Amino acid sequence: MSFRRKLSAEIQQQVRIRANFLCEFCHASKQWQYVQFTIDHLLPIAQGGTDSLDNLALACFHCNRRKTDQTNAIDPKTEQSVSLFNPRRDRWNEHFIWSIDGLIIHPRLN
Ligand SMILES: [Zn+2]
Repeated sequence: MSFRRKLSAEIQQQVRIRANFLCEFCHASKQWQYVQFTIDHLLPIAQGGTDSLDNLALACFHCNRRKTDQTNAIDPKTEQSVSLFNPRRDRWNEHFIWSIDGLIIHPRLN
């Protein structure tokens, strides 16, 4: 069983402001979501992650539910383990691009 520490209100607000109130994974706006955004530990506490700002990211319900406590996933094309997008380390525009109609996020292919 994992023990969840409550982040201070000040830290939570710093994370929200830094993210411009957008999910840092899909860029959905907090304004249009009916489920409250959560603050994700990029490296989970159980794996040695901390509550420092460098390890926190604002995430919408959907992104947080899909990411869970993973930091890596299997690339279906190469079948290799790869790091998941980390908004503290990676630049969103280098990894993703919006469809022309603005409805779908596509991966940038190298
Ligand atoms: Zn999201």
